[in-house]
Amino acid sequence: MIYTDTRDSSVKTTFKNAVLSGMNKETGGLYIPVSFPKLDQDFLNKNPEPSFREVAFQMAKPYVDGEIPDEDLMAIIQDAYNFNPKVVPLDKNSYVLELFHGPTCAFKDFGARFMARVMSYFNKDEGSNLHILVATSGDTGSAVGSAFHNVPGIDVTILYPEGKISHIQEKQLSTFTGNVRALKVKGTFDDCQKLVKTAFTDEELRAKLRLSSANSINISRLLPQAFYYMYSSLVVKNRSALDTKIENPDVVMVVPSGNFGNLTSGLIAKEMGAPIAGFVAATNSNRTIPDWIATGDYNARPSVETFANAMDVGAPSNYERIKAMYTLDQVREMFGSYWTDNEGIKDGIKKCNEKTGYIIDPHGAIGYQAWEAIKNEGFPASADYEKPGVTANKPAWASSVENKTAVGVILETANPAKFGNVVCDAIGREPPVPQRLIDIMNLPDQAVSMENDYEQFKAWLLANL
Ligand SMILES: *Cc1c(COP(=O)(O)O)cnc(C)c1O
Repeated sequence: MIYTDTRDSSVKTTFKNAVLSGMNKETGGLYIPVSFPKLDQDFLNKNPEPSFREVAFQMAKPYVDGEIPDEDLMAIIQDAYNFNPKVVPLDKNSYVLELFHGPTCAFKDFGARFMARVMSYFNKDEGSNLHILVATSGDTGSAVGSAFHNVPGIDVTILYPEGKISHIQEKQLSTFTGNVRALKVKGTFDDCQKLVKTAFTDEELRAKLRLSSANSINISRLLPQAFYYMYSSLVVKNRSALDTKIENPDVVMVVPSGNFGNLTSGLIAKEMGAPIAGFVAATNSNRTIPDWIATGDYNARPSVETFANAMDVGAPSNYERIKAMYTLDQVREMFGSYWTDNEGIKDGIKKCNEKTGYIIDPHGAIGYQAWEAIKNEGFPASADYEKPGVTANKPAWASSVENKTAVGVILETANPAKFGNVVCDAIGREPPVPQRLIDIMNLPDQAVSMENDYEQFKAWLLANL
């Protein structure tokens, strides 16, 4: 597969270069494959549907063709995915797609674990370790740290703002030993990010250490997220007659979104032949994309804090990829959109639990609210986009919602136990905590204290890496 760049289509590069460099430093653009090959119809029509790992292998194959042989790709997939996405029927027209069964209990495990193994694979030929620096305000750091833990040839240093992340998040970041280290910085998330950025531009440091980033714009984090869209849409097509009494439904993916990496992966799955009718872009008060769909104007803005904090993004970086792939009209045909505030999030957790018994997390709750509004009231002919709710945009699949032949698949991106306080506030009890989170809570803290001072940070890197 050839990779190009969202800002300059004359750019041609390999998967290896796209993965190891993350973004194109010359143009500032993001890498995308030049095409999205369709999977074989026979494969898509299998009943029962293929396993998650089979889907992952068939989908990844064209993107690494000529660069990773089949046996090695299969080994990467088996090692990365020692857990599965789970498709759970919720009610008459809805499923929940649970994406939190990985080690850090959030969907970012799917992308981060594949990326870690691919980076390690490509770094084998380089003869020295690759050092990944990540600044995190919470969830990304734990997914990246966990994904690279004990992966050969790669070290990770995570910087987080001391006292500014939740206790459970801190435990998930700071308890690694070996090749993953955490620095608690006396400063803000922006200070952490500045330290990392300064390191990347420090020629003296770069002459001594091979540095890399592992952020969400990396194509090797985006492609693997397409696997679970394909898998779950095939599962729903096969099982919905039984679960929901709807034969051959139109499958609508309802995606709680921040940076829009997850949703962009869904678009890739659809391009590759996944039986997906469309998407709902669901956000918290950081409603840059719903506003764009409603008005046609794209206005990035500073982020605001919400209960669904992994979605607190005011300038979603994958807008650039969506724009490179589709026109606004095409987006409006595929997407319904919705946003809600903190009150709506809490109400969603409560309503979902009362109506279905299911305990949903604050991010999934936004998806739940979006699908409830769409399936019960359809799409409004006009709406004030400054108020929470469904945006006045009628996607091509709106009629199947009216005819009750659409089934919504709500992506549940985190285990509710990670947001126990908000959930408890909404339903009056704590969600059950999975054993792997309990285990982490009992591990000793390994984080090193660091002043918000570049020279101290640099000295530490040189002494410890
Ligand atoms: C990162 C994250 C999101 C948002 O995903 P994007 O790809 O940034 O849109 C949603 N929920 C949880 C729990 C996350 O960690």
